Amino acid sequence: MTFSAVMNSPIVETPAGKPPQRLFIPGPTDVHPDVLASQTAPMIGHRSDEFEALYAKCEEQLKQIFFTDFRVYILAATGSAMHEAAIRNCVSGRVINFVNGAFSQRWADVSVGCGKEAIRVDLPWCTAVKPGQVADALSAALANGPVDAITVVHNETSTGVASPVAEIAAAVRSISPETLVLVDAVSSFSGTRIPVDEWGLDLCLTSSQKALALPPGLAFAAVSDRALAKAKTVSGRGWYFDFTLLERYLKRSTTPATPAISLMQALSVQLDRIFAEGLAERFARHHRLAKRTRAWAVEKGLGLMAEEGYASPTVSTIANTFGWDIEALNAFLAGREMELSDGYGDYKGKAIRIAHMGECWDGDLERLFAAIEEFAGI
Ligand code: PLP
Repeated sequence: MTFSAVMNSPIVETPAGKPPQRLFIPGPTDVHPDVLASQTAPMIGHRSDEFEALYAKCEEQLKQIFFTDFRVYILAATGSAMHEAAIRNCVSGRVINFVNGAFSQRWADVSVGCGKEAIRVDLPWCTAVKPGQVADALSAALANGPVDAITVVHNETSTGVASPVAEIAAAVRSISPETLVLVDAVSSFSGTRIPVDEWGLDLCLTSSQKALALPPGLAFAAVSDRALAKAKTVSGRGWYFDFTLLERYLKRSTTPATPAISLMQALSVQLDRIFAEGLAERFARHHRLAKRTRAWAVEKGLGLMAEEGYASPTVSTIANTFGWDIEALNAFLAGREMELSDGYGDYKGKAIRIAHMGECWDGDLERLFAAIEEFAGI
């Protein structure tokens, strides 16, 4: 599906039986009742054929959503844990962390916390990381020796900005082919197409509670052969996140430690729901909702925070142009069983964030917009 086809996709009616969206916060998002219910299935042993079949099925489906022929590690953990896994396994010497928001900043903190030589490159919040900026920082760092990896957040949830990771990866490859490209797709994965192999991403991580619309508690990382080969040479990988250990167990469709079995059962049901909708249709829905949200904001005289051309497909950050009391707005929305997010960090009180991901449909957004309009008298 081309980009313009995605942007102009026709509105699809909300599926029958889908409850109205409650959470317009950028995670955790609403979970479909069938997926919630699947967690009450009886426990199964994690060294059983039944569990290994469940794991193998989820693994295959996840590889399709990551568009990878390599592997996806599935862990009882969250996205931040995968930040740590990526650093522990892929960095022995130096790493460059590009920081354009709160979560890319966290990845830089994780790099320091893991005792690595972290080169932090700060860029203005609400702007995207550009390939040219990456090329400049990488070239400068290479003057003092090799750089094992760079980290970049695809979709900065704190600001609603999406960075062009395909072009960033290409820029890194052309300057320093051995430098690994590590990407956080926590709040974009399954909401937009991220062809990991085609784009040359060595590691792409995400967590369950955003566009995947699952409860929190599972983390996923697509890992290339290059990244796994690097891990074999890095010391201090620890145990829980050691890719070489995970790889041994993955070959038997399981994990070294006890997996989150109920969450895996929920994952399986949700992955089937995602494929029933269709990947192209799902991506189109997310882009359509993002476009509609931005159009609504502009129509109402509200400013958009994200740099033009780089707005997120899953979460929109809208300026609090009229100085609404955001707590009061949320109290009003709570009366209608809805919730949105305040701005993040310095943007608290200055912006609102509306997530349109996971189980959110066109009708859900219209209900939210109508309620905001009623609250604000706009
Ligand atoms: N990266 C991004 C882009 C996020 O939005 C978040 C959480 O909101 C994280 C990382 C941290 O993920 P988790 O809360 O699953 O540890």
